Amino acid sequence: MKTLRPVNVVMVGGGWTGLAMAKEITHRTSLNVLVLERGLPRKASEYMEGMDELDYSIRLKMMQNIADETLTHRHSMKDPAMPVRQYGSFLPGSGVGGAGEHWNGMSFRFLESQFVLKTHLKEKYGSRKLPEDLAVEDWGVRYSDLEPYYWKAEQMLGISGKAGNLRGVKQPGGNIFEGPRSHEYPLPPLKMAYAPSLFRDAAEKLGYHPFPYPAANASEAYKNPDGVSRAGCAYCGYCDRFGCMIGAKAQPSNTLMPILSRTKSFAIRTGCWIRKVVTKGGRATGVQYVDAKGDEVFQPADVVFLGAFTLNNVKLLLLSGIGTPYDPATGKGTLGRNLTHQVFGVATQVYFDKPMNLFMGAGSLGVMVSDFDGDHGFDGSEPIVRGGTVWMTATGNRPIATFGMMPTGVASSNWGSGWKAAALAWRDRVGAMGCAGEHMAYRTNYMDLDPIYKDKMGDPLIRFTLDWTEHEHQQRLHAAQIQGKIAKAMGFPYQEAKPTKAKYNVTQYQTTHVQGGTIMGTSPDRSVVDTNLRHWDVKNLYVMGASTFPQNASGNPTLTALATVYKAADTFVAAHGGSRGQKEKA
Ligand SMILES: Cc1cc2nc3c(=O)[nH]c(=O)nc-3n(C[C@H](O)[C@H](O)[C@H](O)COP(=O)(O)OP(=O)(O)OC[C@H]3O[C@@H](n4cnc5c(N)ncnc54)[C@H](O)[C@@H]3O)c2cc1C
Ligand code: SF4
Repeated sequence: MKTLRPVNVVMVGGGWTGLAMAKEITHRTSLNVLVLERGLPRKASEYMEGMDELDYSIRLKMMQNIADETLTHRHSMKDPAMPVRQYGSFLPGSGVGGAGEHWNGMSFRFLESQFVLKTHLKEKYGSRKLPEDLAVEDWGVRYSDLEPYYWKAEQMLGISGKAGNLRGVKQPGGNIFEGPRSHEYPLPPLKMAYAPSLFRDAAEKLGYHPFPYPAANASEAYKNPDGVSRAGCAYCGYCDRFGCMIGAKAQPSNTLMPILSRTKSFAIRTGCWIRKVVTKGGRATGVQYVDAKGDEVFQPADVVFLGAFTLNNVKLLLLSGIGTPYDPATGKGTLGRNLTHQVFGVATQVYFDKPMNLFMGAGSLGVMVSDFDGDHGFDGSEPIVRGGTVWMTATGNRPIATFGMMPTGVASSNWGSGWKAAALAWRDRVGAMGCAGEHMAYRTNYMDLDPIYKDKMGDPLIRFTLDWTEHEHQQRLHAAQIQGKIAKAMGFPYQEAKPTKAKYNVTQYQTTHVQGGTIMGTSPDRSVVDTNLRHWDVKNLYVMGASTFPQNASGNPTLTALATVYKAADTFVAAHGGSRGQKEKA
């Protein structure tokens, strides 16, 4: 094995978390940082060459190659786990920028109660009606600790939105249930599309408090505090699964890379498949990887950061023998515990009497109702202890994926000339609502290494043991009822969603929001990293991203992942001779 020249800091993964931390360290300390990324280099200009739905959205051009590495899944410890051979449930990214290149840009702050969920539920309910096997935890940080870092992330990304709680004063038109914000959003909300605006009016009529999605799709031209400028959104509707061709959506390639590529103490190497964090005497000494030529390499480093997304953060620690793997039978061990997803999949359809121009949109364009998020509006008599949000979006209907939406029964089959005529008649006249519920952690949902199946390198695949519980089924039923009320108030024909109690389906897309496995906390007995993302056992090793979330909130995770990275960066920088806060080296 070849040993390379040592570096100060090695970062595994070149997505939002890895590059954000690299920027903080290189600009605020004298340390050099090397990012090792498994995928290809990417430039924002590549996206101008063409946005083909088949290539990008259906054949998943930008995602991790499933033939090289996948995961296995089973519903319970009693079941055999099978490899996932076709991506469904979530879509891990690959290449410089990671999934942040092809995300939607929905950028929520988590509710205050989320960060103290274990304590909050105990105080509110005692042990009276909590679901069996619940394994939720407090994060060890509170919303107020993260607030300045949320704000830093929102400025870096240039979030468009409307505050609902400014320094404790409720703001009509924003999310009045959110925790206090120190500032209004950097940009005003995106222009609202017609269908979600009808949803908003109906929700208001019912006494709910709708608000526009906070969006990393810039509503107008924006220059962030790093001096990086982006254009305003053109509502082309090609955000999710694509890079933005005009750079209006915040992506690592158009926010962090322009700065990092000019930074002498920063380097990025692509095509490097990290297989292991190497340790000696309880400290990380570097990482072992296979380079683009297929050679085994050892990269020595003083400090190692993992930013390889949930699946690979957990897998790399397991392969490296760092920490104690979680055992659901005994409850011992922390590595791999608290695997969570997001409770999606309830879609009430509304049938409009005219075309809605739904081909126009943006990745985070829509209206949401948060009146049942967390436990707002619950008095303890409901079958659920945590709810979620209900919404209608206009993310851009594209020709292939959304063709064929129509009311049930208008075509006698789902093929042939009758179906085609109905599909054309209903084209652009169907609006779908959705929901996003909190997914709480349970003792039975976890990750470990698969004993049978291997990746391209011959290493075991990560294995998911994951299923929905009665709580998630009830969350979906609750969301469907709220959607039904709003659909009725909209005044058009509609079909209320009828959620079933189906098992978790790993073959059906839900969201790429997979959390847990290396959770943060205040004690090594219950968590893998501390509240500054430092590993409890290996003090020069850090783990970043949603794998550190003890459970998932209803909202999408990236803004919170960035906030936790910025908080950790402040502490790391101060400990390495740099400045706390925003001050940067010249
Ligand atoms: C279609 C889509 C839409 C989304 N929309 C939203 C949204 O609207 N809002 C939101 O909050 N989130 C959204 N997400 C999720 C969001 O993109 C992720 O939360 C975020 O990008 C995660 O950043 P990360 O740095 O933790 O990981 P990633 O972006 O996944 O980066 C990890 C990097 O590590 C690399 N890597 C992995 N293993 C190895 C290894 N062994 N060796 C070397 N490199 C490795 C990968 O190639 C990858 O580039 C979306 C995701 C997808 C796919
Ligand atoms: S909708 Fe806006 S942000 Fe999204 S890809 Fe198009 S121009 Fe870019």
